[in-house]
Amino acid sequence: MVHQRESYVRRTTKKVYIGEVPIGGGSPIAVESMTKTNTTDVKATVREIKKLEKIGCDLVRIAVPDYDAAEALASIKAKTKMPIIADIHFNYKLALMALEANIDCVRINPGNIGGRENIIRTAEAARRQEVPLRIGVNAGSLDKSLLQKYGAPIPEAMVESIVRTVSLLEDIGFDDLILSAKASRVPITIETNRMIANRFRYPLHIGITEAGPPPAGNIRSAVGIGTLLAEGIGDTIRVSLTAPVEEEVIVGREILKSLFLREHGPMIISCPTCGRCNIDLIRLVKQVEKKLEGIKEPTVVAVMGCVVNGPGEAREADVGIAATKGEALIFRKGEIIKKVSPTKAVAALLQEMKQVVKRRGKPRRR
Ligand code: SF4
Repeated sequence: MVHQRESYVRRTTKKVYIGEVPIGGGSPIAVESMTKTNTTDVKATVREIKKLEKIGCDLVRIAVPDYDAAEALASIKAKTKMPIIADIHFNYKLALMALEANIDCVRINPGNIGGRENIIRTAEAARRQEVPLRIGVNAGSLDKSLLQKYGAPIPEAMVESIVRTVSLLEDIGFDDLILSAKASRVPITIETNRMIANRFRYPLHIGITEAGPPPAGNIRSAVGIGTLLAEGIGDTIRVSLTAPVEEEVIVGREILKSLFLREHGPMIISCPTCGRCNIDLIRLVKQVEKKLEGIKEPTVVAVMGCVVNGPGEAREADVGIAATKGEALIFRKGEIIKKVSPTKAVAALLQEMKQVVKRRGKPRRR
């Protein structure tokens, strides 16, 4: 595969662990999602986490809005393997209950957790459990004093919220931290995270909050998360979509794949088609996509709409098809290796892809 350009420099951070997943310190950028079920419905929540486990999501966050939800955490934890982050607002006692349930990380919102003492109590409990805290600032729920001071949830206000909380925790010697500051506005999120990255060496969780439904939500997330990642900022990501959880993971992964920051499964490149194309390329790409589902080996697969320019245009691809009505060329790294009838093209591509993977050996996890 083509890799990250040499000038790319990932920001150096402290490494912390959420369960067994390392965050920051040069570790692979972790993909997080968040359950959309009612947390007290243990069966449904476990089912959703298992879906995420199946597609290889790294971390899952669960909302803990009340005592019943906090009580459900132990059962959920016992029935699942993925590291769990308890999402706490308003009531620090819910964080204490989550920690007692052996949860792997707690996210608190300094804007609504109720002051210094509650943050300190939560951190002391996290320290006893050897669990990190995520300080998660949100533009929509900033501390009232900061809103008064700045007049709006601007980057400076969000950064000050993080600074105040980190200082408080560092004063008591607690530094097992992940920081995050999110807004639904992409420029504000980008600017805030740049400022935080300049100031702290803690790992950052990044995302665009309330990004909306796909495709707009995908694009907003890709622009915001992608811009920061391209600057070396970000150690875990979440794409917040009004869509099923799996979609958040798929989009998150595609963002990482686009920047060659992490490999997972095939990457399809396909041409936009033009007047030279005389097949139904959209249909062909869908067929290839379907056949590649579930394959974990990182491979670049090209699907091109003409035999004249296709192989050359997709020189970077490990394998590819360039098809017309009459014939399909199977090519490898721009070199044509086989001609088949269009009806056999997908099968021939898959066969060639298996050969490429076999020759390469075991997949690398980046
Ligand atoms: S590969 Fe062929 S059909 Fe596709 S855009 Fe290029 S020239 Fe047009």
